[in-house]
Amino acid sequence: MSTRKINLSMSECSNREMRLGTITSWDGSASELLKASDYEDRSAKKTDKCCGKRGRACQLCELNMPFSQETTCAHAMVACQIGNLTDCILVEHSPIGCSAQQHGLNVSMNIGLARRHKQPQTISILSTNLLENDMVFGASNKLRQTIRDAYYRYSPKAIFISMACSTAIIGEDIDSIADELQNELGIEVIPLHCEGFRSKHWSTGFDISQHGILRSIVEKNPKKKQKELINIVQLWGTDYFSDILKPLGLRVNYLVDMASYDELKQASEALATTTFCHTLGSYMATAIHLVPIWLQHWKNISVFLR
Ligand code: SF4
Repeated sequence: MSTRKINLSMSECSNREMRLGTITSWDGSASELLKASDYEDRSAKKTDKCCGKRGRACQLCELNMPFSQETTCAHAMVACQIGNLTDCILVEHSPIGCSAQQHGLNVSMNIGLARRHKQPQTISILSTNLLENDMVFGASNKLRQTIRDAYYRYSPKAIFISMACSTAIIGEDIDSIADELQNELGIEVIPLHCEGFRSKHWSTGFDISQHGILRSIVEKNPKKKQKELINIVQLWGTDYFSDILKPLGLRVNYLVDMASYDELKQASEALATTTFCHTLGSYMATAIHLVPIWLQHWKNISVFLR
């Protein structure tokens, strides 16, 4: 698979540093960064900040940096996206330390719910709480039990599983367990490969969240187009877009935070998708509109993304 594609037939999506050549640290001036990040120019001639590779393999090179930028991880970004869905559950297959930020996300979610005039609720994240024995003997049964508990306690429309560094190290097979539990419970059980060490670029977690939603929830063969519906990929912000779009006869469908299963599902029926932040919303918008989703699944077509 080319590293520059969206491929919805695979459960994993490629890292941003592989697919887009993104970096999280830079040792130099802004003008040098501007020059060095000119992808087309660097492909044609070597610069002093370029590793000398050519063509599609040419990317900004962080390997010689004298420091490493402090950053969050893709697993945390999945929590801030998928954990904020109103009628789905996220099961974090990880030690409890990977869930240390959830109290903050619970506050963010409820501020966002109030801004969108939705009912308050507790964030929908469970943890398998891996301990030393689980790291030695495996924790697949603990994951199965947590998914069943989530289903019978909360009756979610879908259950997501997020991978963490520890579960990737011991090789937990979340794809097989997701298939098994999906057949058993009759709802979508969606694996998300977001272990922190997978990508240095935390925003890969946005792509991983949207990849799972696109593969498993968004309507693959929409029977109708909602010509007044506009997807807005947004975080927890106030609903300014309804006032802007209403005079034009348009409605807003907010994705992903605080969205419901049905709001995600209808995303492929929308006229257009836009976002307040390219880093957040580019993956979802490209996958929905560049090639019809049903065609991507049916023909195993990949979408090139710049
Ligand atoms: S980097 Fe790894 S260990 Fe740290 S929070 Fe992310 S998934 Fe957990």
